[in-house]
Amino acid sequence: MKIGFIGLGNMGAPMAANLAKAAHDVVGYDMATVAVDGVTNAATAAEAAKGADVVITMLPNGEILRAVAAQVIPVMRKGAVLLDCSTVDVNSARAVAADAEAAGLLPLDAPVSGGIGGAAAGTLTFMVGGSDEAYQTALPLLETMGQKSVHCGPSGNGQAAKICNNMILGVTMIATCEAFALADKLGLDRQAMFDVVSTSSGYSWSMNAYCPAPGIGPKSPADNGYTPGFAAELMLKDLRLSQQAADASDADTPLGQAATELYRRFVEKEDGKGRDFSAMLPRFEKRGRG
Ligand code: NAD
Repeated sequence: MKIGFIGLGNMGAPMAANLAKAAHDVVGYDMATVAVDGVTNAATAAEAAKGADVVITMLPNGEILRAVAAQVIPVMRKGAVLLDCSTVDVNSARAVAADAEAAGLLPLDAPVSGGIGGAAAGTLTFMVGGSDEAYQTALPLLETMGQKSVHCGPSGNGQAAKICNNMILGVTMIATCEAFALADKLGLDRQAMFDVVSTSSGYSWSMNAYCPAPGIGPKSPADNGYTPGFAAELMLKDLRLSQQAADASDADTPLGQAATELYRRFVEKEDGKGRDFSAMLPRFEKRGRG
C-alpha cells in the first residue's frame, strides 16, 4: 500500500520502519528532522498524504492532531483511510472523524498499548474506533505494526477503550504500591507479599506482570532503577484524558480522579518526571500518614 506517515517520534518512527520493512511504500513527515529506515521524507504533511491509500498519524495530542488533519484531509483521495494511532481526547477523535467522513474518507481512531518496545517489535495492541469498511482496509497494516487489534465500535471508541484501560492501570498501580508500602511497615516480607497477592484476589497486571518492587516477580522497570518503561508523565496524560472524558459525560470516577491528582503531584511537584510510573512505590515508602 501507499502510506503517508505523520509524526515520526519515539513510537511513529519504529512503526513506520516496520511498514517499510513489510514492503509498503511509506512517505513520512515530522516537524523535526528525522531519518527512518526505508521511509522517504516529505517536505510537508500534505505532501506525505497526497495519493496515499492510508494516512497514519502518531502525534502528541488532540490539538496537534486537529491541526494536522486540517492539512491532510483536503488533499487525501476519496475512499482513503485516515488512521490516527495517537492517544488523544475522545472529542478530538470524533471531530476529526466527522471532518474526514464529510470529505469522503474512512477515519479510524486506533490508539495503542505496548509502548516503544512494542512499536519496535511490531507487537502493539490497537484499540480501534470507526466503520467496518475502514477497519478491514487498515487491518493488514495493524497486523504488521501489532499483534492484536480490537474493533471497539464507531469513531472515538478506540480512545474510550484506551483511557478506560489506563485509568484502571493507574489506579491499580497506586493500590499495589501503597499496599507494598503498608506491608513493609507491618514487617511483611515483599516476596511473601508477592507470592500471596499474585495468586490471590488482589492480583492484577500491575502486581503480576509489572511488579513495582525491585527484585520481586518478573523483570520490570523497578529492576532497572525505575527507568521507563511507561513514564509517569505519560500515565498522567492518559489519566487527565480519562477525567476530561468523565467530566464531558458526567461519569463519577472518584478513584480515577484521585489517581490523576497523585500522578500530577508526583510528576509536577515531586521527583516523578522521567521515572517509570511504578516509581510510586519508592514515593510511598518514604511517606507517613501525615
Ligand atoms: P513523541 O513526542 O516522541 O513523537 C511525536 C512526534 O510528533 C514528534 O516527533 C514531533 O516532532 C511530531 N510532531 C509534533 N507536532 C507535529 C506536527 N504538527 N506535524 C508533524 N509532526 C509533528 O511521542 P511518542 O512517544 O511517539 O507518542 C506519540 C503518541 O503515542 C502520543 O499520543 C502518546 O500518548 C502515544 N503513546 C505513546 C506511548 C509511549 O510509550 N511512548 C505508548 C502508547 C501511546
